[in-house]
Amino acid sequence: MGGVIINKLKRLLMLMMVTVFLVTGCSANIFGLNNKNKYVLNAYYNLEDRSLFCSQKLTYKNTEDIPLEEIYFHIYPNAFLEENTAPMIGEVSQNYPKGFNPGSLDIVSIWVEGETATWEILGADKTLLLVKLKRPLRVNKKVEVKIDFNERLPESKTDFGYYQGVACFENWYPIVCVYDNDGWDKNLSKKMGEVNYSEISDYVVEINLPQDQTVASTGKCINEEDSGSGRKKITLKADNVRDFTWISSNRFTTFEKKSGNVLIKAYLLDDNTGMGEETLNMGQRAIEFFSKTFGEYPYDTFNIAETYLYGGAMEYPMLTSIGQEFFKSTDKKLLESGVAHEIAHQWWYVVVGNNEYKNPWLDESFATYSEAMYFEKYYGKQELNARINPKIALIRFNNSIGDSMDKFDNAHDYSLVVYLKGAYMLNQFRQLVGDDKFIETLSKYYNTYKFKNVDTEGFLKIVRLVCGSEAERFFILKLKEGG
Ligand SMILES: [Zn+2]
Repeated sequence: MGGVIINKLKRLLMLMMVTVFLVTGCSANIFGLNNKNKYVLNAYYNLEDRSLFCSQKLTYKNTEDIPLEEIYFHIYPNAFLEENTAPMIGEVSQNYPKGFNPGSLDIVSIWVEGETATWEILGADKTLLLVKLKRPLRVNKKVEVKIDFNERLPESKTDFGYYQGVACFENWYPIVCVYDNDGWDKNLSKKMGEVNYSEISDYVVEINLPQDQTVASTGKCINEEDSGSGRKKITLKADNVRDFTWISSNRFTTFEKKSGNVLIKAYLLDDNTGMGEETLNMGQRAIEFFSKTFGEYPYDTFNIAETYLYGGAMEYPMLTSIGQEFFKSTDKKLLESGVAHEIAHQWWYVVVGNNEYKNPWLDESFATYSEAMYFEKYYGKQELNARINPKIALIRFNNSIGDSMDKFDNAHDYSLVVYLKGAYMLNQFRQLVGDDKFIETLSKYYNTYKFKNVDTEGFLKIVRLVCGSEAERFFILKLKEGG
């Protein structure tokens, strides 16, 4: 790989390294919204030692065609127990400026339908929880699983971590695994890339925390009350989301702007509060453009939070965490790239879900290309061309765009192949079928799989329908194309 190419790709690469990797689901695992799982979480956040106690109640419905004898959960905070499993972009010294320190989740008790349950923690990194059911859960029946747990954030610039007054609670609670055609999804956490894969659910999250904290989260705050001793209790609610993330600090200044029915909020740290208005404008432009192009943004809120996240930005339902380096850069388009990319993930991952471990291209190639389309829309064709570098097609890789996460052995190749080469492939597809068919394909794909999980075959089905079998063959070849 030549140095010239690397230089030209450097800016996008930096963004990619920062951005997180997504998950692809299974087209067979589609169920109606009335079958949604419901999470009610009640948390007490103790800032002094970065700990949290939480009581979680999940109402789970068996939407499969066989009875279930057990339920699996991901408990991702345990990936932060050890330096060699803690997910991060960059080096340990960059993510843990004061040295590595562990984060964790300890189960206190589990009850199923009010009875004490048997459970087991599995996986080399202890991120899988098995809860045994005393009686098989019959098809279409519901069960209530209550889990009490303690956890601690590491002092770090990671997406589950606390740094200089900013606490990021990503993947912070036991999230039920997806049961699909392959059975339970038991993929463990990965050091590199994102492994999220979950079903659309409803959440009510109550958090008791110090009075001076401001919270940016998935969903929105529906109640706030004084709970005495300098603390308050907030109630957050989010419907039709894949997971629930919150970010808390006493250093946030909040900005907001209404764009149609969507309230966009920016939570900025003290140094960068001068950038509130332009951050909101970037958010507004992205939501408007993607809504018009792919299909309506389905929520009424979107939050942009500045954090210390090292090496990038990260997407969550109705929320993005943008690392401070984006705000500090003299190149203003870096922040705009980050905002556009993470907002594009609302379409590609949050609403149209996928198993990020198995089919990472379904969210990252799409978000990277959508980001390029945003720049084309607002800054002209030359900005698209600058982001879709044809030289990427000439680089030889050991991996293919359609590869699952485990096939990649380094973050560098993963970023170049899944983000850049994948985006280049989507641009080739656009040239092959023309602008109208291209947009029709993406918007039909979005509307068909809205609030569902999809896999590569699910996408190809839409390509076949809208553009015919020649276009489908184009993808089959490109997705498998090796180095
Ligand atoms: Zn991304």
